[in-house]
Amino acid sequence: MRRKFVAGNWKMNGSANSIRELLQGIREGAAEVAAVELAVFPSFVYLGLVEQQLSDSSIGWGAQNLSEHASGAHTGEVAGSMLQDFHCDYVIVGHSERRTLYGETDEIVARKFATARKIGLKPILCVGETLQEREQGVTEAVVERQIKAVLDLEGISGFADAVIAYEPVWAIGTGRTATAGQAQEVHAFIRAKLAQLDSALASQVRILYGGSMKAANAAELLAMPDIDGGLIGGASLEAKEFLAIAKAGC
Ligand code: PEP
Repeated sequence: MRRKFVAGNWKMNGSANSIRELLQGIREGAAEVAAVELAVFPSFVYLGLVEQQLSDSSIGWGAQNLSEHASGAHTGEVAGSMLQDFHCDYVIVGHSERRTLYGETDEIVARKFATARKIGLKPILCVGETLQEREQGVTEAVVERQIKAVLDLEGISGFADAVIAYEPVWAIGTGRTATAGQAQEVHAFIRAKLAQLDSALASQVRILYGGSMKAANAAELLAMPDIDGGLIGGASLEAKEFLAIAKAGC
């Protein structure tokens, strides 16, 4: 049985004050959605604050990115061991904004995934096609290629504690959500691909949907058999909305 997981990717948003307020709101409603695992992903600089605010709660936290390197001359980068100092549970790797705006290739993303696992951080691997790729009918090929890069490096066992987020790029921050049917189709494809290598593991891996998910469309998406939760951007910046998404998964 896969426990539903609702994760808030705050991206480059928030301030110390707004984060305190947001977390207070989430904490107040968390007991009501206890069936669902919750986690938030602030900017690096707020990880200490988030840890302080959440360490006595059931809500988890993680980072939006990490360096593929362990330490050294990498100005501006953040190592996985530094995230561990803030007791992160998870780290997002390969978000489409990292891939498109910061040039992260499938291989770089795979190395980040491996670096996270090596030190016991659970990676959330983001995959997904652009609008052009969907229109060309290559959605499955793109997602398969992105996952294969990780499989080549880590093998199927690399996915044992990992989470996958299917995030069609055309649905991220656009207000345009994949239909439940469109999302389910890709989630089922991903699970089937993993099942070809290890069916028991594939049935355990949580596959989240991301892309303009909000309270109004969450119930339909979360009712799909292979959609195990959501990676939420914009709608995670409001406690009420974030909790309403989680409630839809209860
Ligand atoms: C995201 O950035 O992971 C995301 C899904 O964003 P949004 O919910 O705003 O589309």
